[in-house]
Amino acid sequence: MKSSELRSAFQKYFEEQGHTAVASGSLVPHDDPTLLFTNAGMNQFKDVFLGREARDYTRATTAQRCVRAGGKHNDLENVGYTARHHTFFEMLGNFSFGDYFKRDAIKFAWNFLTGTLGIPEEKLWVTVYKDDKEAEDIWLKEMGVPADRFSRLGEKDNFWSMGDTGPCGPCSEIFYDHGEDIAGDPPGGPNDDGDRYIEIWNMVFMQFNRTADGEMHPLPKPSIDTGMGLERIAAVVQGVHNNYDIDLFQHILGEAGKLLGGVDSSNNSLRVIADHIRSSAFLVADGVLPSNDGRGYTLRRIIRRACRHGHKLGATGSFFYKLVPALVEAMGDAAQIVADNKDQVMDILKKEEEQFARTLDKGMKILEDDIADLKGTVIPGKTVFTLYDTYGFPVDLTNDIARERGLTIDEDSYEACMEEQRQRARAASQFGVDYNSAITVEGETEFTGYTNLVDEDTVKALFVE
Ligand code: ATP
Ligand code: MG
Ligand code: MG
Ligand code: MG
Repeated sequence: MKSSELRSAFQKYFEEQGHTAVASGSLVPHDDPTLLFTNAGMNQFKDVFLGREARDYTRATTAQRCVRAGGKHNDLENVGYTARHHTFFEMLGNFSFGDYFKRDAIKFAWNFLTGTLGIPEEKLWVTVYKDDKEAEDIWLKEMGVPADRFSRLGEKDNFWSMGDTGPCGPCSEIFYDHGEDIAGDPPGGPNDDGDRYIEIWNMVFMQFNRTADGEMHPLPKPSIDTGMGLERIAAVVQGVHNNYDIDLFQHILGEAGKLLGGVDSSNNSLRVIADHIRSSAFLVADGVLPSNDGRGYTLRRIIRRACRHGHKLGATGSFFYKLVPALVEAMGDAAQIVADNKDQVMDILKKEEEQFARTLDKGMKILEDDIADLKGTVIPGKTVFTLYDTYGFPVDLTNDIARERGLTIDEDSYEACMEEQRQRARAASQFGVDYNSAITVEGETEFTGYTNLVDEDTVKALFVE
């Protein structure tokens, strides 16, 4: 089953259960400064859960584009290291706004997986929040899931929140066991973050609204919010372990491999590039531009990280932006917004790539020299700062290189350099000198295709997260 068929099968199944199919929302959350990017299917329904907005349906289903590259859910550092994380992915979801609750949500999910998709029950593992006796009874007594494939977990895994504030509640998750030859323990085990048991579906029993003071207020009506990563379930259905081996990625990887002079699809840097072209292209299509702070800086970090991986694979000229057509071909209708803005998206990515290309080589040379002279395993903060300040290397990029070589960066001394610079900037501004204009990266890209929705002030200094 192709990913596109899976997407349709999910929608059809939930439509048959009385759900209204709703289009994916933008990656830039509408009017919600608490969120960096849309990170889950429920984001566009936040006000419905809170009882502030009414819709003419109480059941909905979506395939929501999500980006997790900053804020509460940040998977940027996982990309290239696990089989299951992307910066950009599609989340399939079904929602109940004060309509059905735990029992039906559990039944729907189980029937879809074991019935519609025909996944053998013995490959599935279930978890609940440790105090949620109600959900536990439904799974064990009504659904007949055996106790040896069932675990109770705490807050960290099984109490879901969108951000520090907003709708939240206990959840129940379904995992798929990819088999003994892969490292990793079942949920709750000492190495449960390995890739053997992969979490595929999260059902959140929305019961509370957490306010800024940390208080939990019961929601007007208990509701359901579920999310299943399309790429993860596609891996299961297509009989592969790694998400990058599914159809959606194979085409992009193939193109990227060709562009870079014949790199194998299983190459890790190539996978990072294939992941990053999806988040970058969609973010630009949704109105984000590379910039030096807020959402634009996260986008810049992603693009530059991809360029650095290309550089590692020997890229000599621009290559990244050329992957946009392959992305559109691979995703079809789901990439309509990218297809509609293809030329602009390519243009913006190309400019950012070209701009970084001017400093990437020199920066890498400095870093290589420094590493060659290194005594110990910690790259000095001063180097990290120079790379950031003069060569446009976001800190996580330098950290990514360090990690590849088994090194770390000295974050404290880097922070001290940053602080010194801030003080110099403050002192200079007292004399009316705009010190910052001297250090910003030159040539911001103008994009006038549509209104820039980005509220740059809301999320700052992401690189020190
Ligand atoms: P994990 O523990 O694997 O990081 P999560 O618990 O952070 O996942 P949820 O917030 O519960 O994920 O999101 C719901 C579903 O979305 C997950 O069960 C998974 O199928 C999918 N998902 C979450 N993060 C990613 C990601 N970075 N890339 C691909 N799919 C993801
Ligand atoms: Mg996660
Ligand atoms: Mg999890
Ligand atoms: Mg989860």
